[in-house]
Amino acid sequence: MSRTVSLNVLRAGWCRHLECMADRGGRWAPVRFPALCGLIRHPDVGWILYDTGYAEHFFKATQTLPERLYRSAVPVQLPAQEQLLAQLKTFGIGAHDISTVIISHFHGDHIAGLRDFPQATFIALDAGRQHIERLRGHRWRATFGGHLPALLPEDFSARLTLADHCKSAALPGWMAPFSQGFDLLGDGSLIAVPLSGHSEGQLGLFIPDAQGHPVFLVADACWSVPACRAGRLPAAPALWFASHDAKHYRQTYSDLGTLIRREPEVMVLPSHCSQAWKAYTDEQ
Ligand SMILES: [Zn+2]
Repeated sequence: MSRTVSLNVLRAGWCRHLECMADRGGRWAPVRFPALCGLIRHPDVGWILYDTGYAEHFFKATQTLPERLYRSAVPVQLPAQEQLLAQLKTFGIGAHDISTVIISHFHGDHIAGLRDFPQATFIALDAGRQHIERLRGHRWRATFGGHLPALLPEDFSARLTLADHCKSAALPGWMAPFSQGFDLLGDGSLIAVPLSGHSEGQLGLFIPDAQGHPVFLVADACWSVPACRAGRLPAAPALWFASHDAKHYRQTYSDLGTLIRREPEVMVLPSHCSQAWKAYTDEQ
């Protein structure tokens, strides 16, 4: 039996994009794409984050060219009350109380707040870590791939634990086609599941027991649960941004669709899907 954890899903800013970017059946009209992160409470380890969403550091990191192009392409809103630090305060949590930040992948909208958590250990997949390290000093290439290496704290490497070095864990049969992951805390409560295709080394997080429910945080493996359920991919131009490896992206997307259709009990939560977020918060 895995341990019970609690999970709150918080929106730390949003950007505007055409609805059809996430779902080719969607409208040609701008909608909000939330930047979601998971706030997890583990009985022994304490407070853990899965991603950080946007933060003030994002605006600093995109002040000049070429990084400014990122901000122009994806207009971001982050009202003061929506900053993650402000939201954590409402839970009675300070920045120093966050023991661990699990990084789904290194795109700017997922790691912008890393510098805000000076006590935290970071967890990521090795492929993601290697990729962002390689991009340091290659600002144009990094920017066009949605990466902003300046968001990493100076002591990032020293604080990083690689998920791939954790004990591997078999997922329950009902999680098929997903079968294997890495047991991040050694007690079965948080299982990292590699979700290839969107970026180098994307880490999904399977939580077998989040207050009694199985939850699968899938970052950017899909942007819309209704679209993924129906097997509709993002619009063709968006697919270019959605995948660094188109073949693997489509395979992961299709696997996720299979799981969503077959197992309605598993709450699949992408980082940018308003419908899935609402469905989860309504249930709490
Ligand atoms: Zn991404």
